[in-house]
Amino acid sequence: MTQSVFATHEVFNQSPPLEDVNLFAADRPLLEAVKANGGDLAEKELSDFGAQWGSAAMAERGRVANESTPKLRTFDSRGNRRDQVEFHPAYHELMAHSAHAGLHNSTWSADGRPAGAAAEVVRAAKFYIASQVETGHLCPITMTRASVAALTMQPDVLAKVMPVLSTKSYDPGFAPWWGKRGMTLGMGMTEKQGGTDVRSNMTRATRDGNAYRVTGHKWFMSAPMCDAFLVLAQADEGLTCFFMPRFAPDGSVNAIQFQRLKDKLGNRSNASSEVEFVGAYAERVGEEGKGIRTIIQMVQLTRQDCAVASAGLMRSGLAHALHHARHRSVFQKHLADQPLMQAVLSDMALHVEASVALVMRLCRAFDRTPHDQSEAAYMRLLTPAIKYWVCKSAPAFLYEAMECLGGNGYVEEGILARHYRESPVNAIWEGSGNVMCLDVLRALAREPDAAMAVLQDLAAETRSLPSAAEAVAFIGKVFRRSDGERVARVAVEKLAVLSAAAALNGVSPRHADLFAATRLAANHASMYGAVDLENADIRALLERALP
Ligand SMILES: Cc1cc2nc3c(=O)[nH]c(=O)nc-3n(C[C@H](O)[C@H](O)[C@H](O)COP(=O)(O)OP(=O)(O)OC[C@H]3O[C@@H](n4cnc5c(N)ncnc54)[C@H](O)[C@@H]3O)c2cc1C
Repeated sequence: MTQSVFATHEVFNQSPPLEDVNLFAADRPLLEAVKANGGDLAEKELSDFGAQWGSAAMAERGRVANESTPKLRTFDSRGNRRDQVEFHPAYHELMAHSAHAGLHNSTWSADGRPAGAAAEVVRAAKFYIASQVETGHLCPITMTRASVAALTMQPDVLAKVMPVLSTKSYDPGFAPWWGKRGMTLGMGMTEKQGGTDVRSNMTRATRDGNAYRVTGHKWFMSAPMCDAFLVLAQADEGLTCFFMPRFAPDGSVNAIQFQRLKDKLGNRSNASSEVEFVGAYAERVGEEGKGIRTIIQMVQLTRQDCAVASAGLMRSGLAHALHHARHRSVFQKHLADQPLMQAVLSDMALHVEASVALVMRLCRAFDRTPHDQSEAAYMRLLTPAIKYWVCKSAPAFLYEAMECLGGNGYVEEGILARHYRESPVNAIWEGSGNVMCLDVLRALAREPDAAMAVLQDLAAETRSLPSAAEAVAFIGKVFRRSDGERVARVAVEKLAVLSAAAALNGVSPRHADLFAATRLAANHASMYGAVDLENADIRALLERALP
């Protein structure tokens, strides 16, 4: 291709786009974490997925879907209600690719049972890769796959939905779900007066034959073009979970009226609505009054995905930073060869190594939970701790990654500005930071013996690592304090870091050692790069991150 010639200068010393890269094969920490957690048989499948999602065409879809944001069409030209949201075709293409790869259902069998083997690990590896390209469309994808866990509480609804939900097709048509090639589900819990405290929900459900009519509102209800939503509303016996389809069984459009779409910091390809239900048709899921217990099955899985996606965003930030530093020269030397930039990048690489090892270890626990009590205890205690630590570390990480690209990192043409704007949301939704810490305390209070057994297992897995024993003792001591809530963040962060060291020890003991030395033996400085790693370790970390 001939370059246009500028009147005053030649363009050089700019990094080429990081495109047409296999996002699986080029990521050794991911490859090894997948293998260590039982996903090795899927290497070919993951490599194909990584090549496809690393292509320039997918990156372009991600860019366009975020620039041409969804539009709410409340009425038609004659004043009739439409309540439809229009998306750019690029968004639909991303949805179709994700559905085709089973991101919305591959952890379930066709009748809604856990798929078994390493289904969680393999899907999470794909989710991690897809989140490096476009995260907005993953919102309905994650809600759809998670909804099955809640639907399990209502076998008749599950049985009729699964034949449509379990296909690998994406069908964006606005039509009753039962006639479609595939379907997506969303959820509506948060109301104006409270998102954490859903017990304060005011939306009412009244019986109508075998079904219910729901009247009220939701303040955040994302992905409004989903075919159905799991919604919380107050029934006679208390807060209850409902399956609310876009179309009523008689084929009429259900009374779900969208007021407006949120104008969000990030997550722009995804629509998040404010909505009114005006006697909307709904079917009960689980028992009346057991709404929280029902929907929490779903939320546990969306929390897992939040952590996986945040780790993926950080991975992408690292890869772009490293790639740029290898091409950009300052003072006649590539940035990647400057000792201070190496310190920053390798410290970041260590954080990503630990994060990906940790989220894959968590997914292994999800895989094994149905038939292994200790894995179930790991999953219950550590899902909130891992969501807390991984998701909350992403914004600061992406800011540092952006800075590695200098001014180019800050402009919207690159992906880092988008990643940075995206990164806080995973910590905020599906249970914000403090709520996650309170959840860890709740798991401890409910099952103290099981939680202590998890801590003992972590102690055994980290025995060889610097200061791990002290961390275990510290966590135990803080959790036993009567004022535990006030100091919960102190212990939960330490617990997550200890779990990350343990997970990384199962993947790469040398890097687990470095991680523990810089994060357990010493408090990590508030900036990346303020660590003293040997040159050989720096080289190895950067080579593993991106060959
Ligand atoms: C882009 C986006 C999309 C969303 N999509 C959906 C959706 O599809 N469906 C849906 O139902 N919701 C959705 N939400 C809502 C989201 O789940 C809530 O915003 C979240 O649960 C927090 O609830 P809240 O906003 O009411 O904040 P609050 O509950 O008021 O919490 C505010 C702060 O207080 C802290 N806090 C709460 N309780 C305690 C406590 N006991 N002690 C100490 N601190 C505490 C929280 O950690 C938080 O930091 C979405 C939000 C966003 C940003």
